[in-house]
Amino acid sequence: MGVRILHDKEDDYCCLYCSVTMQVFGPIMYSLDEAEEFLEYLGKRDARRFTDKELEAKYYEFRQVRDKEQSPCNICGEMTKGQNNLGWYICSSHTEEEKKEAYQRLVKEGMSVTDAQGTIWGEEK
Ligand SMILES: [Zn+2]
Repeated sequence: MGVRILHDKEDDYCCLYCSVTMQVFGPIMYSLDEAEEFLEYLGKRDARRFTDKELEAKYYEFRQVRDKEQSPCNICGEMTKGQNNLGWYICSSHTEEEKKEAYQRLVKEGMSVTDAQGTIWGEEK
C-alpha cells in the first residue's frame, strides 16, 4: 500500500514513510506495536492523505482512545487491555502461578476475590 513503518531498533521509535516517494511523514511514535496499532486505527484511510498536523491530531486521538481501553495490570502495573473474568486487568504473559500469588496477596489484605464460577481464589484449603 506504500505506507511503511520505519523502526529505530535501538530506541524503539517509529515513524511512517511512503515507499513510493521515500518521504517520511507524521509524528514519531514510541514503539513498533504502537505504530502498527496506529495504522490499524486509521483503517482504510491512507495515512499519506493527511497533513502532518492532521496526522499528529489523529495520533493524539488514537492514544486517548487506547488509554481509555487500557488499565494498569493488577500484577505488574504495565498498561494492558486484557480483562479477565474477575474484571481484573492482567497481561496475557502472566502465569497461573503469578495470578494466584496476586490473588492471595489481595485476600491477605482483606479483599475477597471470587471469579465468575464462584471459586474463591487464594483461600487456604
Ligand atoms: Zn502484567
